Amino acid sequence: MIIDRQFRDKIGGMVNGKVLFDEPMSAHTSMGVGGRADALIFPDTVGELKTLVSFFLGEKISFLPVGNCTNLIVRDGGYRGVLLSLEALRRLEIRDQNLPRRSTLKEEYAGSVCFYAQAGVSLSGIVEFSIRESLSGMEFCAGIPGSVGGGLKMNAGAWGKELKDVVKSVSIIDAGAKTREIERKDLPFEYRNLDLSKGTIITGADFHLVRGDRNEIQGKISDIMAMRREKHPLLYRSAGSVFKNRPNCPAGKMIEEAGFKGLKAGDAEISEKHGNFIVNRGNAKAGDVIALIDTIQNKILGEKGILLETELKIIGEDL
Ligand SMILES: Cc1cc2nc3c(=O)[nH]c(=O)nc-3n(C[C@H](O)[C@H](O)[C@H](O)COP(=O)(O)OP(=O)(O)OC[C@H]3O[C@@H](n4cnc5c(N)ncnc54)[C@H](O)[C@@H]3O)c2cc1C
Repeated sequence: MIIDRQFRDKIGGMVNGKVLFDEPMSAHTSMGVGGRADALIFPDTVGELKTLVSFFLGEKISFLPVGNCTNLIVRDGGYRGVLLSLEALRRLEIRDQNLPRRSTLKEEYAGSVCFYAQAGVSLSGIVEFSIRESLSGMEFCAGIPGSVGGGLKMNAGAWGKELKDVVKSVSIIDAGAKTREIERKDLPFEYRNLDLSKGTIITGADFHLVRGDRNEIQGKISDIMAMRREKHPLLYRSAGSVFKNRPNCPAGKMIEEAGFKGLKAGDAEISEKHGNFIVNRGNAKAGDVIALIDTIQNKILGEKGILLETELKIIGEDL
């Protein structure tokens, strides 16, 4: 525990939002595993977040932003430092009906409807908003349980589309605790990653979508949800895809061909339904999930010479 009594009092005085100390992360991760974070803080505003970041930088306290914790495993020994949840930042609003704010971007986004979403808005909230407003382009996010902040950091995607395709600019607090806005052309998106410098926190983003037919949008979303129910093990807790796919070589197929489906460590299991999911069948520990990850990586490296890279993020310390 690096947050002593004195820091607790100081931190408590800096935010109106919720502050939890020594908090078990198993209560917050979609996988339902993970040890205790020294602190888990839910700032109410970007201003509070900035104040906290400045304080942590000055005091050399490590911190990490988290969203809905749906692609995150915290090791069983917990996280030494502060996890900053952006859950309370939930503003979502249409910027204007047609025109972007900057004249240089007028042509690129002509005809688009632009809206702003803070980092804590859920991707499912945006999908619902796009149905309500008859906006097309965000259907691929249906069923992805993350937040705008986590989604952008992971460049979340499905069915051939990624968040990079619909984002116009991203608002951040940079590693020096300054707020900035970065335009799409300057954002280094990669497959399942937005390569921001260490310590950067995404506070929100502008998106652009096109007007569409509400029934068609709703229909596409229903089809996507049906495909997810058919292919993914949604009855159990998980963190989504464990490994990144390789070009022309889905990780799930490699894992299935290696005969791993159904393999267990404690209550963690490589899903029978989809090889790239590890599910929690009850009381799995982070160590069980990580043991399965190691087993898969070692066998596939040994047999095929391919190192499968994890898509989900693993943080914290072992017990
Ligand atoms: C059932 C299921 C299905 C899924 N399907 C998909 C899918 O189809 N496609 C897909 O891409 N993913 C999928 N996922 C994985 C996950 O939902 C996405 O990666 C999602 O975008 C993660 O968002 P989050 O808010 O939960 O991020 P978290 O898990 O909280 O964080 C993920 C990473 O982002 C960083 N981060 C979080 N918030 C911020 C911020 N504000 N600023 C900077 N960094 C931040 C964290 O430090 C961490 O490194 C699925 C997960 C589940 C459980």
